Amino acid sequence: MSTPASDAPRSPLPPATATTAAESLASGDDRRTQGLTIGVDVGGTKVAAGVVDGAGTVLHAVRRPTPGHSAPEVADTIAAVVAELTADYEVWAVGIGAAGWIDAERSRVVFAPNLAWRDEPLRDEVAARVGLPVVVENDANAMAWAEYRFGAGRGRRDLVCLTVGTGIGGGLILGGELYRGAFGIGAEAGHMRVVPGGHPCGCGNEGCWEQYASGRALVRLARQIAADDPAAATAMLEASGGDVDGLTGPDVTEAARKGDPAAIRCLMEVGHWLGEGMASLAALLDPDRYVIGGGVSDAGDLLLAPARERFLEAVPGRGHRPVAEVVIAELGSQAGLVGAADLARI
Ligand SMILES: [Zn+2]
Repeated sequence: MSTPASDAPRSPLPPATATTAAESLASGDDRRTQGLTIGVDVGGTKVAAGVVDGAGTVLHAVRRPTPGHSAPEVADTIAAVVAELTADYEVWAVGIGAAGWIDAERSRVVFAPNLAWRDEPLRDEVAARVGLPVVVENDANAMAWAEYRFGAGRGRRDLVCLTVGTGIGGGLILGGELYRGAFGIGAEAGHMRVVPGGHPCGCGNEGCWEQYASGRALVRLARQIAADDPAAATAMLEASGGDVDGLTGPDVTEAARKGDPAAIRCLMEVGHWLGEGMASLAALLDPDRYVIGGGVSDAGDLLLAPARERFLEAVPGRGHRPVAEVVIAELGSQAGLVGAADLARI
């Protein structure tokens, strides 16, 4: 693993009373808070990057479209946003949060269902272009870390963070540490199987949790209602401009906020499945808080109320045990880059 401590040039030891900025940064505790790092959040459609200080504050952010299906082009785009930011800010490391499975060395993207990466040495490709220490993290892990350090999970040592977007991104903080798993690809909670023989999933299995508790599930339910009973889907179709195939998750949320019963029902079903999976995770992990982020969480209690209800109905030992709180994430769309920037400090 490449860290600033090992890569930074070391000068001969000065007198015991003197300290330099470089030495300060070489000490673990100070690295956690001092100086600036860049976080880059690479998703299927956009690359968002920002200069972040040790308190998690984004000083300056830029965004570009993710280029097509070429791995070198993605590395070039990351290098370009880093160059844009380092023109105005002195930074000492870069953290990349990527929508893919990352190896335990925080170096290679093993597999990315929605991007061009297949065993891609992303850390070294970017480091060669930018001349700074680079680490690569899974994007959902980066978001979980940001919520733990600076957001809705502050002060909690055992935390499950679920990013409910197109699928479900999972991130675990256990005992105050980010849990990555033996091969770096742990916490892929969206691929826990909840319905044997259920809907097929991009991971190769059927019945994965993210096929039932995600934006994709929300859209599938809404389109089904629109196909079966267009009158019942009037409000959702109004939000989508009348196009059944163009119905999106935000269209459903917008209609639900206006009180549309069919849209509310779709969110209730997705929330129900969310709570179902959270109950299974409680059996395994016993977290003290679930933090729910991602685009679908914009629906707020329209999603969380049925999720909490089902969670409390399904949690093992219900009525005889303390149960975790379920809260909405606080850092919004910047969580990924803030978390990646902070993880570059570790
Ligand atoms: Zn799956």
